[in-house]
Amino acid sequence: MLQPDLNAEDIIYMRRCLQLARNGQQNAQPNPMVGAVVVCNGRIIGEGYHVRCGEGHAEVNALASVKQEDVHLLKESTIYVSLEPCSHYGKTPPCADLIISKGLKRCVVGCVDPFAKVQGRGIQKLRDAGIEVTVGVLVDECRALNKRFMTFHQLKRPFVTLKWARTRDGVMGVKGERLMISNTYTQMLCHKRRAEHQAILVGRKTLEEDAPSLNVRLWSGRHPQPVVLGSNVKNLPEGWWCFQTVEEVLNVLYERGVQTLLVEGGRTTLQAFIDKGMWDEAFVEFGDFSWADNADGKDCETILVPTWKDAERVEDEVVMGRHIEHWKHVAATE
Ligand SMILES: [Zn+2]
Repeated sequence: MLQPDLNAEDIIYMRRCLQLARNGQQNAQPNPMVGAVVVCNGRIIGEGYHVRCGEGHAEVNALASVKQEDVHLLKESTIYVSLEPCSHYGKTPPCADLIISKGLKRCVVGCVDPFAKVQGRGIQKLRDAGIEVTVGVLVDECRALNKRFMTFHQLKRPFVTLKWARTRDGVMGVKGERLMISNTYTQMLCHKRRAEHQAILVGRKTLEEDAPSLNVRLWSGRHPQPVVLGSNVKNLPEGWWCFQTVEEVLNVLYERGVQTLLVEGGRTTLQAFIDKGMWDEAFVEFGDFSWADNADGKDCETILVPTWKDAERVEDEVVMGRHIEHWKHVAATE
């Protein structure tokens, strides 16, 4: 049941903030996606979102969108923002100061910013200036929207996504043979997934046997930083990073500000991340055949899918009839 002070109007405008925020999906990173709405007496007089890292924050864009004839209404207005307004000088001045200088009456915040330089200081600054602040409207949705950003700042490591494809009978590879499981559409989806990550990783064997390029070709977007895990890597391609252990990968990527890592395999590498409990979500593509049916009695050594625990299935994606299971890691409770 809704608490009396968590009113329906606040929820509607926060939902609009979330909707706006999602427009920043590809370009806001490594900054979080944020949306903001300025409301006066039941009318939206301004709205905006964080478009691109280095450019104006959502609050700045929302306030700049208020028409000249409505500017006098700001003193009676509420600003809704899906993430706490910042209180520090980054690439732009603090949004909390801007809200104070514009004289807004109230500020409704979706969730607190876990970034060390903010963490409640923005909210405190607004309150100290006499602005009424409500925190936690649609808090779960606001946090989920920026789960990668939250993981990076709270756990001090990149958000880790695992990805593999398998046959119906659980085979993800065959020694000495090329096993094609993905089709044209799921390959495209794989490249979209790459564009959504800042770094991409394979193990030494995959690099040496398949020489994958790991870039984004079938989708538009930035190429992730290629990384290989393993010792004694021969012929490391130019521009790749090489690390010996899962811990080293995560520590160095964190230090270098890489918030998202896509692990594409092979099996040993995927299993290493799973065994350390260092993964957040996984996408498993199911091919439309069984290896056993296609093997024609050939005696090949198959590579089976990784094994895991603490995995919870969240939802399936269906791409042109292909099933892709989506799993998330449930951190073991003590
Ligand atoms: Zn800001």
